[in-house]
Amino acid sequence: MPIQHAAIFDLDGVLTDTAELHYQSWQELMDQLGIPFDRQVNESLRGLSRPESLEVILGSRSADFSDAWKQDILRRKNENYIERVRRMTPADLLPGVENLLRALRERGVGVAVASSSRNTGLVLERLGIRPLLDVVVDGNDVPKSKPDPGVFLEAARRLALPPARCVVIEDAAAGVEGAQRAGMRVVGVGPAERVGKADLVRKRVAEVGIEDLLGLFDEGTA
Ligand SMILES: [Mg+2]
Repeated sequence: MPIQHAAIFDLDGVLTDTAELHYQSWQELMDQLGIPFDRQVNESLRGLSRPESLEVILGSRSADFSDAWKQDILRRKNENYIERVRRMTPADLLPGVENLLRALRERGVGVAVASSSRNTGLVLERLGIRPLLDVVVDGNDVPKSKPDPGVFLEAARRLALPPARCVVIEDAAAGVEGAQRAGMRVVGVGPAERVGKADLVRKRVAEVGIEDLLGLFDEGTA
C-alpha cells in the first residue's frame, strides 16, 4: 500500500545536535582570527546558511573584508565542521529519535529528512539512520535556504504526497515558517520564543510522541 502520510524531519537540532559542532567550528575559527564570537552570537545563527551566518558574526565589520576573504573563511569553516562530523557516531543521535523513526515506519508513515545543509548525506551516514529514511532532500538539491519552502516541497514531491499530508519537525523559526509556507503542519522543537508559531510545541524531540504526529495528520485530512 502506498504511504498516506509522512513525517519530514529537519536535521540540525532535531535528529542530532550539529548546532554544537557548528558552534565549535565557528568559535575555533573566530578565535584564530581575533573576531569576537560566543554562544550568544551562535544562538542567533540557528537556521541560517553559512554565508548568512558569517554576515551576522561580522556585523558592522563586514564591509572591512573582501568577498575573496569571506569565501576563504566559509571554506575553512566547512572543512573544520566536516572534520568534526567525520568523528560522529550513532551515539550522536538525539534521545528518542531512533524509536520515533522506527515507530513511524511500523505505522506505515513515510519518513523524510529535509535540511538546507549540504553535508546532510555525510551526517546521516555517520548517524547510521539512512536505512530508516524514505527520502532525503538537502541543500544540494534545493539551494535556497529555509524559510524558502522549496526543500519541504521537494520532499513531498519525492514522497508522492500532497503537502497537507506531511508534518514537519523543526527546531528553527525559519524552518517553521518554511514548512508553513509549504502548506504543512509543524511540530516545533525548542522554546516557544523560537518555535511558538508551530502547530504544536515540544521542548525536545524526545517529547514528540507518535500520537502527536498522527493527531496532526488527522487534522490535516479532516
Ligand atoms: Mg534545525
